[in-house]
Amino acid sequence: MAQEDLFKKIVAHAKEYGFVFQSSEIYDGLSAVYDYGQNGVELKNNIKRYWWNAMTQLHENIVGIDSSIFMHPTIWKASGHVDAFNDPLIDNRDSKKRYRADVLIEDEIAKFDDKINKEVAKAAKKFGENFDEKLYRETNPRVLEHAKKRDELHERYAKAMNDMNLEELRQIILDYGIVCPISGTKNWTDVRQFNLMFSTEMGSTSEGSMKVYLRPETAQGIFVNFLNVQKTGRMRLPFGIAQIGKAFRNEIVARQFIFRMREFEQMEMQFFVRPGEELEWFKKWKAARLKWHLALGMGEENYRYHDHEKLAHYANAATDIEFLMPFGFKEVEGIHSRTDFDLSNHEKFSGKKIQYFDPELNKSYVPYVIETSIGVDRMFLSVFAHSYEEETLENGETRVVLHLPAPLAPIKAAVMPLVRKDGLPDKAREIIDSLKFDFKMQYDEKDSIGKRYRRQDAVGTPFCITVDHQTLEDNTVTIRHRDTMEQSRVSIDDLHSILNKEVSMTELLKKLL
Ligand code: ATP
Repeated sequence: MAQEDLFKKIVAHAKEYGFVFQSSEIYDGLSAVYDYGQNGVELKNNIKRYWWNAMTQLHENIVGIDSSIFMHPTIWKASGHVDAFNDPLIDNRDSKKRYRADVLIEDEIAKFDDKINKEVAKAAKKFGENFDEKLYRETNPRVLEHAKKRDELHERYAKAMNDMNLEELRQIILDYGIVCPISGTKNWTDVRQFNLMFSTEMGSTSEGSMKVYLRPETAQGIFVNFLNVQKTGRMRLPFGIAQIGKAFRNEIVARQFIFRMREFEQMEMQFFVRPGEELEWFKKWKAARLKWHLALGMGEENYRYHDHEKLAHYANAATDIEFLMPFGFKEVEGIHSRTDFDLSNHEKFSGKKIQYFDPELNKSYVPYVIETSIGVDRMFLSVFAHSYEEETLENGETRVVLHLPAPLAPIKAAVMPLVRKDGLPDKAREIIDSLKFDFKMQYDEKDSIGKRYRRQDAVGTPFCITVDHQTLEDNTVTIRHRDTMEQSRVSIDDLHSILNKEVSMTELLKKLL
């Protein structure tokens, strides 16, 4: 199936099974804003819990906060967002469509990589087992030619972005003949800067009101609370502050479903360290965060690091963790060594001393910061898209199954009476009542048992428990596994431990140690 078709199916499935709805759908929707449905919210909460517990429960020196969305507007001056949180945008005069100039150029760069990969795939097929991919990439003249062109473009683009040279960005678009995907023409406007922050008014009268922003990241809420947490928690360096919360960005080109939204959620952890030790901590967090992803079992080959060559002016190291989405490898999480940029600037703008007294060194200083920042919605999309499968069974039938990592699944087990009589429903409810304190359970008695299994497969429920007449005689049930569809007969008394082994968040967290 073409990747584009697959992605369309995934989006349709998310709606049909109560995971993600377009916001304000009955009013024809609001662009790039989404709502999570009855199953989506459970999956999302489980992702957040996995992250939150991994941060604040497994580390004695990481604590959480929940800061507000509105903050003093000067914070966004200090952070650089008022002056520099801009995207370069360009319009096509024929289609009237607006694009990010940087994204158009990055797509062009990616085309060279596609060409290289095609050459490699062709050669791999031709040479079979004897194929040495590394050698081929290093020596094949056609591959080298594409790589040279890619690097030339990349260098020119990186310089233009670093200098924020808008004319040069436009010139690159013209020189490389980049056309609008809708109109197919090169009739481009100038490139302009566009600030991504949403603003609103706070206060009741127009004279007395103040322009405030909806936060574009949760990080600043952590920085401005650094002293509060350090002092009240008597925290000693190194230590971290974690936060999960909404962020808002007026994205110019919002596309790819929940990958790029205007209202989204972030899970951020700022780790404060001694100056000079930051690169060592950066390395540690880079490894620790990948381990968190890999523990979900979604395949090592689907992740990669993308180290930044072009660093923001305040960062001295940065990398992204990318995941293979149906539309290619994309950033899910960023890990940044932000030096003392944020805390120093808040010192400057607030006039308050924001320093840490280090008892070992017997001096005060502004700590350095390693940030790990992941989008909840992007994480949701990676898990959801990766789990989706249209499986052809041995008997030729097909089923749609979500192979969600079991601890993240919205419903852990469905309990089904074989028939709606003879006391089987009561027995089923009894089982639910005994398990519902630890697991999210669902009762299902409608339709044939086969149809009920399919329904649970489609929402990723790891177990289906069926109550039949034998249950009343010997206190056993059949338990069916989502992925293998295998069924076995087990005692009701063993259900708790069987479920717990596979769906427990604790077992998942243990993999991180
Ligand atoms: P991009 O380059 O894709 O715009 P970014 O580098 O601006 O992302 P950061 O500012 O580093 O992103 O934000 C950290 C994380 O927040 C990202 O890795 C991503 O998971 C998430 N995120 C950022 N913008 C959005 C958005 N518009 N919609 C959903 N998630 C987002």
